[in-house]
Amino acid sequence: MSLLDALSGASPLGGSLSGGSPLSGEPTAQECSRAGCRATAAWAIGWRNPKIHTADRVKVWVACDEHVAFLREFLSARDFPLAVAPFGTVPDAASLSPFGSTTI
Ligand SMILES: [Zn+2]
Repeated sequence: MSLLDALSGASPLGGSLSGGSPLSGEPTAQECSRAGCRATAAWAIGWRNPKIHTADRVKVWVACDEHVAFLREFLSARDFPLAVAPFGTVPDAASLSPFGSTTI
């Protein structure tokens, strides 16, 4: 993205606010993180393991509509702080909670 912006710096529209190029690494469809599931993810679940991750670390799983609840339960059952957000967004470390706040 930044390289393309640099190369097209003369754009009369101002470049980077125009939505980006589909060829430059925009978030695209991704499969659900649930083992064996090939469905397209609709959710992002940010979480961390307090025993091994620092407070500013966020791991992200993605999930389809069917498995978002499963993965959320999996993490909350282990007392991992987590947050659920629409796919394409990354939950902020500060938004993680033991009960899984939902940003929708
Ligand atoms: Zn799934």
